[in-house]
Amino acid sequence: MSDVPETRAAILAVGSEMLGPLRQDTNSLWLTARLEEIGIRVVRKSIIGDDPAVIVRELETASSEASLLISTGGLGPTADDVTAAAVARWLGAPLIRNAEFVARMRARFEARGVRMAAVNEKQADFIEGARVLENPRGTAPGFWAKKGECEIVVLPGVPSEMREIMEQSVLPELVRRSGGVVSRRRILRIAGMGESAVEELVEPVYARWKQHPVTILASPGEVQLHLYVRGEPDFAETTVRAMEEDFRSVLKERIFGGDGEDLPSAVGRLLRDAGKTLALAESCTGGMAASLITDVPGSSDYFLGGVVSYGNGAKESLLGVAPETLSSRGAVSEESVLEMARGARERFDSDVAGAITGIAGPGGGTPEKPVGLVWFGIADRDGAATAKRRYFVGDRTHVRRSASVHALELIRRHLVGWKSPDA
Ligand code: ATP
Repeated sequence: MSDVPETRAAILAVGSEMLGPLRQDTNSLWLTARLEEIGIRVVRKSIIGDDPAVIVRELETASSEASLLISTGGLGPTADDVTAAAVARWLGAPLIRNAEFVARMRARFEARGVRMAAVNEKQADFIEGARVLENPRGTAPGFWAKKGECEIVVLPGVPSEMREIMEQSVLPELVRRSGGVVSRRRILRIAGMGESAVEELVEPVYARWKQHPVTILASPGEVQLHLYVRGEPDFAETTVRAMEEDFRSVLKERIFGGDGEDLPSAVGRLLRDAGKTLALAESCTGGMAASLITDVPGSSDYFLGGVVSYGNGAKESLLGVAPETLSSRGAVSEESVLEMARGARERFDSDVAGAITGIAGPGGGTPEKPVGLVWFGIADRDGAATAKRRYFVGDRTHVRRSASVHALELIRRHLVGWKSPDA
């Protein structure tokens, strides 16, 4: 661990438009990623309207939790751009119009043949005592000021302007002060298991690495473990590597990829490396699994095609599922999914085929076959065929998405020869 005390940062996204349903605060995501890289932890984020009183109140609260505050937005020329005034009020410093900057702005407008509107002069109102941060991409400069032990960096809201000022004027200074402390992150991605099952499995590993934060994130069909270590570069790299090994020793082949590789790419890599081809037969997922596979550039090297056999007729005519199987066992059954997989494999003449049939809901469920039940089948050129059943909880979109991802995971496990007890 490092002796340099950890800087705790808070990010304030100022802009009433982000309180509505149409605009998202993406600046804070970018800022968080960049701050984490240099070992600064974000402990608070807020989205607040263009109201000076609210901004001052938020600065007061944020400064009790963090020693570095970064605000974005509200530095423009219009009446609702009030961030500079609010920050000045919080600092107890006056705003002073900078005549030289007004002249520079006017010259810039005139160079483009445009007369500068009087409202623009507001952007030359500088916070007394604050360092002015040049904005090479726009008009409004940023500010860097100090209040007691707390520092505040005030940036424009336009993402490209905010990033440029951070890269040029803020991050280099923060890196210099950090005494070489960095952070290293590893992302381990797992499919085919629920969040709680993953959590149970890695419980003992968590306990061994208590001093470094591990975050678990779930999305339909996938769980991610984010390992994070802060310290001198060598320490951070060695430690995160040891952590990764420890997690891998428990999760084994359940980890399909690392930071850069998603599941469809991992499946594609395995198929390509083995010189094998794939076909799909999909019912309730309506082609979503094929869509995931073909999202990957170059997938034509190994993906031959898929059939969306939604109705029973299509399952019979396009895949050769026997009418008796459908009538006696139903379309969502072990027998049907195996015939779908075998049918797709034969018709496409692929090495491997995957099949999916299930009840995505909201209607169509019965006590024996509830909404969320999905059967998966895999057929191989050597004649082997396996089927697995899984219940997904959630709405139609969630069930379909989870089932598509799960099918790819089962194909992946088949390709690596991993007989796991939990998928
Ligand atoms: P300008 O000087 O260009 O007016 P500003 O600091 O006043 O900059 P805003 O007017 O608050 O910035 O926002 C300008 C635009 O930047 C918004 O319309 C929005 O598209 C984008 N923006 C502002 N804040 C954010 C944010 N937190 N995340 C992503 N985009 C943002």
